[in-house]
Amino acid sequence: MHTHSSKESYPSLRSWTMAQVRSENTKPEMAVRKVAHALGLRFRLHRKDLPGKPDLVFASRRIALFVHGCFWHRHDCGRAATPASNVEYWTAKFDRNVRRDARAAADLRKAGWRCVRIWECEAKDPRKLAGIIRRRVIARSPNTR
Ligand SMILES: [Zn+2]
Repeated sequence: MHTHSSKESYPSLRSWTMAQVRSENTKPEMAVRKVAHALGLRFRLHRKDLPGKPDLVFASRRIALFVHGCFWHRHDCGRAATPASNVEYWTAKFDRNVRRDARAAADLRKAGWRCVRIWECEAKDPRKLAGIIRRRVIARSPNTR
């Protein structure tokens, strides 16, 4: 699991931000896995052969799921404030993230996958999260395991 350990305290800003954006096994991601598993869903993790390396892949349902941090992927929920300094740097960085997300989703759809995005703020409460996964994953492919 990703934690803010002491060894991460003093790297350069650039390497730190890249590490954050690409990090796997984040807390919200672990919450989504746990709930999906409890709902009896079968999935694989981080399939490198798919665009954007989706966090969870429900192959029989042709659904690729991404768990996105609100700050890094710019969710409109109040957790995505732009830092007050180096505004140009951050704006460019966020634009790249959002474009990368959009490109991965477009490439997946072209290849016949449906994309589901779950935001970090939606993964806080396991009961709400179960409802979200039921609606976005199970309801969209009801006859598959
Ligand atoms: Zn959010």
